[in-house]
Amino acid sequence: MSINNTQSNETIYTLATISQALECSSVPEVMTLRLENIIRVKTSEWKECLTEIGEACAVKWVINNTNKQPTNITAEEAKATGIKLCFSQEYSCHRWGTYESKVALRVVQKRTKKNKCPALLRVKGFFKTPEFYEFVVTKDHAEHTPGDMRSDICTLPLAKKYLHELAQQL
Ligand SMILES: [Zn+2]
Repeated sequence: MSINNTQSNETIYTLATISQALECSSVPEVMTLRLENIIRVKTSEWKECLTEIGEACAVKWVINNTNKQPTNITAEEAKATGIKLCFSQEYSCHRWGTYESKVALRVVQKRTKKNKCPALLRVKGFFKTPEFYEFVVTKDHAEHTPGDMRSDICTLPLAKKYLHELAQQL
């Protein structure tokens, strides 16, 4: 693993290690996948990793389009025809109503005005690198911070305490 090299992260994350690709967000106990930060995820575990990222980051990613890439051609055929992508799917942020209402119903009632969040996460697979898929958040959340219902309960000093504890564990 190349921890020092953040410019080109060549780590292929698995379900066991995917949390290492995430960073602390401004909300305690909620992680975030940095905008425009391309990460590689083991092909066989990409769906589980996406679920894990959603849970860790308090974001429910819903399919925005469907994969239109050819799935029935070989890598050789793809190369011959200049096709690079074997998989491409886009997910958008769906604000998690039930998750929020459980934590702070009163606050949610004020906020559920169905503002569409523009956040996007793209998953791409390439014929030349079948061992991993690429994940990247291309647009950030707007008008809400994922998991911020907890920040209504936890104060900022608590957030700092959590980060401090996390730093000591590393
Ligand atoms: Zn969002």
